[in-house]
Amino acid sequence: MRTLDRRHLITGTLALAGAGLPALSAPAQGAPRAPTLPVSRTEEGQSVIYDAYTWQRRELTKKLPLGEPWPREVDIAAAFRRFGLDQLPAFAPAALPVPSTILPDVYLVNSTPNLAYLVDGGPEGLILVDPGLETNVEAILKATEALGFKRSAIRWVINTHAHFDHSWADAHFQKLGARILIGRADAPAVEKGTQITAKFALGPKVSADYPTLKVDWPVDDGEELRLGNKMLVAIATPGHTPGSTCYWMQLGGKNVLFGGDTLLFDYRLGAQALAYSDNPSYLRSLHKVARFASSPGVPVRWDILLPGHGTISLDRADMDVMKGVRQVQWDIDMGEQIKALPFADDDYRKLMFGRP
Ligand SMILES: [Zn+2]
Repeated sequence: MRTLDRRHLITGTLALAGAGLPALSAPAQGAPRAPTLPVSRTEEGQSVIYDAYTWQRRELTKKLPLGEPWPREVDIAAAFRRFGLDQLPAFAPAALPVPSTILPDVYLVNSTPNLAYLVDGGPEGLILVDPGLETNVEAILKATEALGFKRSAIRWVINTHAHFDHSWADAHFQKLGARILIGRADAPAVEKGTQITAKFALGPKVSADYPTLKVDWPVDDGEELRLGNKMLVAIATPGHTPGSTCYWMQLGGKNVLFGGDTLLFDYRLGAQALAYSDNPSYLRSLHKVARFASSPGVPVRWDILLPGHGTISLDRADMDVMKGVRQVQWDIDMGEQIKALPFADDDYRKLMFGRP
């Protein structure tokens, strides 16, 4: 019961606060270069682009009786079958197809295991956010060409942090002519291939051959990145890694947040079990995003969350930010581990069970 009231409070409060926001409409400027993805409305009234992994587990929390243990991952397919969740709806594909149009000028160019976004910066070039694994490179280049761009147009690669599933392909894109941007405190990780890349998870052979590079543009907190006709503002958000950075972009009157592994949909959080993970810093960073202001006294209301993994929020992203703040605060207060995924958590299940 201990987090139940808190979670009801936050979702209830924000449901009221967000009631007047219109859902994001289709791209306004001419025909998109790639199909858009199906948009779902959550039972909290949020417009999202679901991935199957999130949708199946989230739906299971609504249906699995609370007295039953949450299934182990190896058994979870049987639980999905039991509740008819094994048949994936069209709005929650196993892997989000690429390339897809997410917003005007923002495209999804990779979806497994991380979400990589391509932002059209106009005639000066393209911005690639978190290219991820080395094995993603060809797929990203193909998606870029399918969008009608030249592969040589990728001029800037922005990283939300140094973990290999976000930055491993950086060296490849740098050789193709892109400039590499990453939070200053994570720059040494990709330059030296330190443990902060988490490359140890790849095994000794791959880890030994892990590519390094010279960062072209170490990014500082609050720095305004003018990249072609787009401007992104860096928000240093240490905690998941020392140099984790979120990026704010205004697009069509909406506030867009590139969240990396720091901010994700609906109580999903960064994996915080690594030696350099810093939970108090993570909490401070989440508060910082929640209170972020475009200028003194002018708070930014987050509309759209483009996270590093999972489900994309197309409106009311401030709800995801506040959920993150409350959950990390609670876990720290209770001396608990921070859970990257909420589904097996008793309190999350109590909150979700029986929802439509
Ligand atoms: Zn990470």
